Amino acid sequence: MPALRFDVSGLLRKPGSREIIHVEDSLPPAFKGQERIVVNGPVRAKITLKEASGTIMAQGGLEADVTLTCGRCLNTFNLTVSQPFEEIYRRHSDFNREDPEEREEEALFAIDEQRIDLTPMLSQALVLAVPFSPKCEEGCRGLCSVCGEDLNVKPHKHDESDEDLPDYKAALKQYLKEHPQDNKGS
Ligand SMILES: [Zn+2]
Ligand SMILES: [Zn+2]
Repeated sequence: MPALRFDVSGLLRKPGSREIIHVEDSLPPAFKGQERIVVNGPVRAKITLKEASGTIMAQGGLEADVTLTCGRCLNTFNLTVSQPFEEIYRRHSDFNREDPEEREEEALFAIDEQRIDLTPMLSQALVLAVPFSPKCEEGCRGLCSVCGEDLNVKPHKHDESDEDLPDYKAALKQYLKEHPQDNKGS
């Protein structure tokens, strides 16, 4: 049994019982958006599982070391991210299969043969944990819009009358001269 399929038969036998588990594992990709995340080492999670009227309530926090690409300077950097999560696992018979959303939920969060799959819950938390437009640091200056150099490494400005006109600006001028139709509306 994969470590992320957890046996809850003991909890289901005792109404109101709870158990705290620690997970340290790599996450198989189970959730849309997860494939763009580079995780270094295992994902860590502390999860409290609680029996409540035949359902299992799961609640906890996830932590992971990820490598991200800064949206401004395009350098990669490492970050430890964390995210709280909460989910309710129900018996198959507790889902309303008339409802497409419930059918989707059932596939991910049903108690199946006295077991629950922690993977979708943790994957979802991981996707939420990662910032959508990451920045290597709050004050990152990004790349120079004229020459493309990293302004954090080499702060500089360009003059309009710059003698050494950057190649790409010259190339752009040349291109627009040759393709005047592309210049419309700009
Ligand atoms: Zn940056
Ligand atoms: Zn520049």
